[in-house]
Amino acid sequence: MRQDDLIIRSGYVVTMDPGLGDIPDGDVLVAGGRIAAVGPGLDGGGARELDARGMIVAPGLVDTHWHLWNTLLRSMSGGTPGSGRPAGYFSVSLGLGQAFTDQDNYHGTLLACAEAISSGITTVHDWSHNVRRPAHAEAELRALAQAGLRARYSYGYAAGHPNDQAMDTDGLRALHRGWTAGAGAGGLLTLGMACRGPGGSNPAMRVPPRVYQREMAAARELGLPVTVHASGPPAAAGQIAALAGAGLLGPDLQVVHANSATPAEIAQLADAGCAVSLSPFSELLIGYGLPRTAELLAAGIRVGLSVDTTALTGNADMFAIMKLTQGLANATAHQEFACTARQALALGTLEGARSLGLDGVTGSLTPGKRADIILVATGHPNLGVLTDPAGLLVTAAQPGNVDTVLADGQILKRGGSLVTLDGERITALAREALARVRSRAA
Ligand SMILES: [Zn+2]
Repeated sequence: MRQDDLIIRSGYVVTMDPGLGDIPDGDVLVAGGRIAAVGPGLDGGGARELDARGMIVAPGLVDTHWHLWNTLLRSMSGGTPGSGRPAGYFSVSLGLGQAFTDQDNYHGTLLACAEAISSGITTVHDWSHNVRRPAHAEAELRALAQAGLRARYSYGYAAGHPNDQAMDTDGLRALHRGWTAGAGAGGLLTLGMACRGPGGSNPAMRVPPRVYQREMAAARELGLPVTVHASGPPAAAGQIAALAGAGLLGPDLQVVHANSATPAEIAQLADAGCAVSLSPFSELLIGYGLPRTAELLAAGIRVGLSVDTTALTGNADMFAIMKLTQGLANATAHQEFACTARQALALGTLEGARSLGLDGVTGSLTPGKRADIILVATGHPNLGVLTDPAGLLVTAAQPGNVDTVLADGQILKRGGSLVTLDGERITALAREALARVRSRAA
């Protein structure tokens, strides 16, 4: 028995493990940071008890693509009062992003982490596309380590990096060298590479194939997973075909959005074993169109859900993301049960973990996995009854209902409050950092 071992008692346990199902009055024993046992009436062996009566106990939610640094620019895509015309997401994040110091990346990332914990997200995929210098990446990793979240950190390029020049692959190699030597990696953080690929639907951001081929080759030489956007409305089709034509698809590649994918491109993704990350709020708000959830799943593609960027979407409410995913899938199919709440919950937990290659450690309450767990209190007025737990989590729950969050067995939120991070200080420092960024950019 270790000091931080604990037993979660008498909750409605939604394991998301197909072999274990739901346990209406169940316990979860956490020992050494991992899930030791799940079931009714477990022997806690004297471990500290967390009372979960009236709560839903579920796996921590899994985000699969999020530009954490630009959380400093929350809700700025629509413009600010008195600024005239709304600038739009790319213009805001590019314009202000170039004025970010490594400390600004740190404050943006830490604010995002505080929101993630508060909202029940225990795994994030930090898609870092403002690595202006190696110090920016180090600052972001410092914030992730401080937060105690499980994270894939995908080292990317700088906002405004010239389209015809490769990103700093030497910086990635140096980070990887230190990483394999054990510095800063721990068990919670894994490394990947964020690549521009063809550059999305905006002609001003088009990247020549020789550039992204070289970048992806550098990551693959290091054995790192790669992530790339295939952005834009249906007219932007062809990005996935271009990657396929260059032989760049593979099970180590995550493609983000793919709203524009043609049936042939979806088949190419499936044949190559690629994963896809869907961020329905940002895809709707920026005008890319509807997520292709049903077609991607029907093709057998690993699919996860994502926040993308709060500069555009405002918040990181994964409950709402799951609900929107379900609703859009049903709307597209003109059918009430094309996507059930249970399926949407799987996308936000186990399937998201699978899409990142992390399902061996997180995504379900399975003995042997690391203890990434949330307790959702049902006593608030927006819940109040305990009916179908998956339905409640997907259609009714909100971040404010998250009572307790554990990541890797460590309690990060308890009784509705952050435990390890000082939320007030983080927001105060974020406000100051944004003010400095704006004055520098002006
Ligand atoms: Zn993105």
